[in-house]
Amino acid sequence: MRVIETTAELMAARDGIAGSVGFVPTMGALHEGHLSLIRRAKEENGFVIVSIFVNPTQFLEGEDLDKYPRKIEADMQICKRAGVDILFMPTPGIMYERDELAVMAPATMGYILEGNRRPGHFDGMLQVVMKLLNLANPTAAYFGKKDAQQLALIMQMARTYFLRCRIVPCEIVRDGSGLALSSRNVYLSPEEKQRALSLSRSLKRATKMVMTGERSSQKIEAVMREILENETDIEYVEIVDRAFRPLEEVEIGNTIILVAAWVGTTRLIDNLWI
Ligand code: AMP
Repeated sequence: MRVIETTAELMAARDGIAGSVGFVPTMGALHEGHLSLIRRAKEENGFVIVSIFVNPTQFLEGEDLDKYPRKIEADMQICKRAGVDILFMPTPGIMYERDELAVMAPATMGYILEGNRRPGHFDGMLQVVMKLLNLANPTAAYFGKKDAQQLALIMQMARTYFLRCRIVPCEIVRDGSGLALSSRNVYLSPEEKQRALSLSRSLKRATKMVMTGERSSQKIEAVMREILENETDIEYVEIVDRAFRPLEEVEIGNTIILVAAWVGTTRLIDNLWI
């Protein structure tokens, strides 16, 4: 595995690769969720590039940029073992110049749900993903459904800017108890982890309701809120279609149920695609 820290070196290395390239951008502190993306990239491409970059522009003032978990040594081992060909680990100074041109999230999608709670977050995320896609120039890039709105925005960016790479959505990976894996789970105490399970539990209950014929978003949301409210501080529970428009009735094959909630000082998100 080659570890690369500069953009010039990455572009030169990329130019030397023939055949298909799979790319997995991450912020590190790698877990099985990231690994599932890497494995899929390996299966579908001759060559795999992973990036680890804790992107400062997608963190808002007062968010956890400084304490975001960084585990460089362990991450390098994980990537090596997974058969990653290139690990790109730039610094902010390498990725950004001062007063640079910006990519912006669209007015609606960028500022509802996650974008409403974290205004500007998606601008920073899209900016860095655009840069990384141009640098790695992949055949296919792999993103988790865990960050559903992020995924939708990246797909839109690929459309808007006529990006050539395929954007591949990947399933959410959970631990044995149902908790969606996240680098931020390390912030949770054992007691908070128990409370965090209410997110996946509420989504499981929603699945059951839909399976037994319930379609009313209002009723499903109410039951989910009941499960969540004793354990968490709910930010939102929303039932939307794949374009993130609110749905009054669940439409099988076109629905995402989204949850964001605080457990102590940790903000968690989870979702379910129906
Ligand atoms: P992050 O390092 O949190 O920025 O995540 C990097 C990529 O991994 C993103 O595409 C995430 O959606 C994806 N990812 C994070 N957690 C999971 C998970 N539990 N299951 C599947 N994909 C995930």
